[in-house]
Amino acid sequence: MSNAIYPVSDEVRESALLTPSQYDEMYQASVNDPEAFWAEQGKRIVWSKPFTQVKDVSFQKDDLHIRWFADGELNVTESCLDRHVAATPDKVAIYWEPDTEGGETRTLTYKDLSESVNKFANGLKSLGVKKGDVVTVYLPMVPEMTITMLACARIGAVHSVVFGGFSPEAIAGRIEDGSSEFVVTSNFGWRAGKTVPLKANVDRALELTPADLVKKVIVLNHVDQESAVNADRDVDFHELVNAQSSECAPTIVNAEDPLFILYTSGSTGKPKGVVHTAGGYLVYTSLSHKYVFNYTGEETYWCMADIGWITGHSYAVYGPLTNGATCVMFEGVPNYPDSGRMARLIDKYEINIVYTAPTAIRALMAHGDKPVEGASLKSVKILATAGEPINPEAWRWFYEKFGDSKCPIMDTWWQTETGGMMLTPMPGVTDLKPGSATKPFFGVKPALLDNDGKELEGEASGNLVICDSWPAQSRTIFGDHERFKETYFSSFEGYYFSSDGARRDADGDYWITGRVDDVLNVSGHRMGTAEIESALVAHDSVAEAAVVGVPHDIKGQGIYVYVTLNEGVQSSDEMRTELVKWVRSEIGPIATPDMIQWAPALPKTRSGKIMRRILRKIATDEYENLGDTSTLMDPGVVDELIKGHNDLT
Ligand code: ATP
Ligand code: MG
Repeated sequence: MSNAIYPVSDEVRESALLTPSQYDEMYQASVNDPEAFWAEQGKRIVWSKPFTQVKDVSFQKDDLHIRWFADGELNVTESCLDRHVAATPDKVAIYWEPDTEGGETRTLTYKDLSESVNKFANGLKSLGVKKGDVVTVYLPMVPEMTITMLACARIGAVHSVVFGGFSPEAIAGRIEDGSSEFVVTSNFGWRAGKTVPLKANVDRALELTPADLVKKVIVLNHVDQESAVNADRDVDFHELVNAQSSECAPTIVNAEDPLFILYTSGSTGKPKGVVHTAGGYLVYTSLSHKYVFNYTGEETYWCMADIGWITGHSYAVYGPLTNGATCVMFEGVPNYPDSGRMARLIDKYEINIVYTAPTAIRALMAHGDKPVEGASLKSVKILATAGEPINPEAWRWFYEKFGDSKCPIMDTWWQTETGGMMLTPMPGVTDLKPGSATKPFFGVKPALLDNDGKELEGEASGNLVICDSWPAQSRTIFGDHERFKETYFSSFEGYYFSSDGARRDADGDYWITGRVDDVLNVSGHRMGTAEIESALVAHDSVAEAAVVGVPHDIKGQGIYVYVTLNEGVQSSDEMRTELVKWVRSEIGPIATPDMIQWAPALPKTRSGKIMRRILRKIATDEYENLGDTSTLMDPGVVDELIKGHNDLT
């Protein structure tokens, strides 16, 4: 695999908040004396009663507890809104861009945002929403999403955002799991020129939940189209809000009170309802947003993730707003009306920082130069990705096309459960290696363990664990603390186990190799999925690839590969032979694919991640028992792949 290094350039160094030695010093301080480090960083946010305790943690399974700033009291919206309204009321908080290119845009200053939040907070109160109540949010990417989350936080209610692409069954499951009595939705959303019937999905979901559970459904009239109204239950968002005062005193909560519930992507099984608390989460997301994006207060910042995922919660809402950032919010998709939309949008708002996902990059990359044709992209300073390993080929394409070969890419590794970025480069600090998430963020102590739980030193490959707590760590799985203990703290006593595998190179940089459950064992050699997939994506004709292990008489496990070819490339037996040769030369004979199946598309979670567990089942003829498929983006893809597999074998 490529071992190219992209050292920090003079240009990036000059505008960086930190030098490499300052990072080293701060990092050492953060892990050697976390109490002192986080006591200082805790001051980044507004407390109504300052904390005197900082860290109170045990990772021992029998005595598991995780508490940060435990006697502090606050309301997170004072950090996200009030203090900015006092200092810079007219600064833009959100530029909103609709799905339809050229359609009506919206601009909300911090003052506008704060007033809307307070009004809706009063509206929620008037409907009987109280501190600690769970409010389910099923909205498109419109400013009311942010408004709703912050309105909940304003009154101490707990939001549970369900991604707008989920089905009625998935909504129902989450409503029930959270015993949620209130739902906020929209009549419709827009996606690539088509409307999505959000309200109808909620109505259907409520037929599947106990009849007396949900008391009120608040409906935003976003698209000029009728949706069914249930007079006893439905409340019009605007009617509710218009009647309210734009002042609402914040409800003060404890640092350890829950701020939100959010479900994981469901890549490896049934989604987990992860709980995050107010104090530590806000401190950590604010600090990481500042340093990873080199955010000075001036930049226009675009996190492309849907707010329905943790990336959106932490880095489209809480982190940036705590830092008073100007954020771009986009309802549409990067390749509608064509693959040039993303670049045009960057030019339109003169965006400086872009945070996206490898899946979006691979989708654009399949169109060659088209996505950036005619665009200037002069405003771009920093690029970043999250969610999956980024294949080095996709990294280089993004770096060259969107970053003019000079803007650093922050490959951030983290999880819904970690609340914030854990392994990541920082601008001006880290020499970049395509495909590596490089170094730990402040306060994060990663380690690699072998399967017996022994810590590995130096260059090594193993189970990625975290040795000690960080403030944004999730505290529990909602309603199932046992599953929380089991999932994260039982495999390796005294550590948080990520379920991901990683390799550490001679420079101490980390490379995520894939999910531990997906690791291949071929003739006794352990191999991550990421490396073989990246080798395939590096081939000119390949758009995407997914690798799974299948039983093999001689080797123990064989390598079964699904390949999506680039636009306009024909599949053929010659191409198969060529790809096999290619992987052998890129990695070595040990990685020789045993089987290559052409995949018109790969099964993905609704957050865009490849679902290898489904691919493994197809490759091993176990289609009867695909497991939890509720988070699958397009079930049609699975049928096609089953057919393709049967034709092949
Ligand atoms: P589930 O936990 O339900 O199976 P999930 O793990 O996909 O779903 P998320 O919390 O959205 O849910 O994703 C976290 C995972 O995404 C990580 O554990 C890791 O496998 C992968 N990931 C995230 N960022 C990166 C990255 N920069 N490089 C490699 N992998 C990443
Ligand atoms: Mg996970």
